[in-house]
Amino acid sequence: MAAMTQIRNIVILTGAGVSAESGIDTFRGGGGLWEQHRVEDVATPEAFARDPELVLRFYDMRREAIQTKQPNAAHFALARFDREWAGELLIVTQNVDDLHERAGARRVLHMHGEHLNAWCSNCDIRSPWRGPLIERPPCPACGARALRPDVVWFGEMPYRMDEIYGALRSADLFVSIGTSGAVYPAAGFVRDARELGTRTLELNLERSQGSAWFDESRLGPAGELVPAWVEEMLGS
Ligand SMILES: [Zn+2]
Repeated sequence: MAAMTQIRNIVILTGAGVSAESGIDTFRGGGGLWEQHRVEDVATPEAFARDPELVLRFYDMRREAIQTKQPNAAHFALARFDREWAGELLIVTQNVDDLHERAGARRVLHMHGEHLNAWCSNCDIRSPWRGPLIERPPCPACGARALRPDVVWFGEMPYRMDEIYGALRSADLFVSIGTSGAVYPAAGFVRDARELGTRTLELNLERSQGSAWFDESRLGPAGELVPAWVEEMLGS
C-alpha cells in the first residue's frame, strides 16, 4: 500500500452525509417519503410522464430549499483541499445541491445532475435555473416549453461516467465521504479502485454497506472527519 507521501492523484466521492449537516434532507434510502409518495415513485422518468405536475412541484420545492442552506465545515475543508492540493483531484458528488461550489471548490463533477440547472428535452441544452418549472417556462435557448429538472432520476444513467472511470484509473487514493454505499454505480467505485490497487479510505457517520471494501474506515460526522483529514493531507 502506498504511503501518504506517494499520493498525488485523488478521487473523492461525496454523498448525502456531506449535505445532511447543512440541513438538506435527501429522502433517499430509509424509505423516504414526500407527501405520502415514496421518493422512488416521484424521481423517475415514468412518474414524470404520468404526472409531470407532481414531479415538477417536488423539484421546485427542493430547488427553493437548497438556496436557503449554507455549506458546512466539510464543504469548506474540501474547497481548501481543492485550492491547495497540487496533484490531480476530482470531487465526484452524488449531491445535486451547489454547496461544494458555494464553499469555493472548483474540481467538482455532479454525477447525479444539479438542482440549479434546467434541461430542455427539445434542444438538449442545460440552462442555469433558480426559479420554479411548474408553470412550464420557455427554454432560454430554443423557447420550447420542455424544461425538466437536470437531475438523474432512478433508472437513468449517471452523468460523465467515462470521466469518472478515467480519473479512478489514474488515482492513487479513493476517498468516499458520507455515502451509504447503497446506490450504484457509485457504490462500485471502491471495488474498481481496489482492483486497480488504489488505496481506499471511507469517512462516514456509521459503518456502511460498503465498509468492508475499504482499506480504512473512519466513523463520525463529516463536519469533523473531513477537516481533520484535509489537515493531515496538507501537512499543516
Ligand atoms: Zn430548448
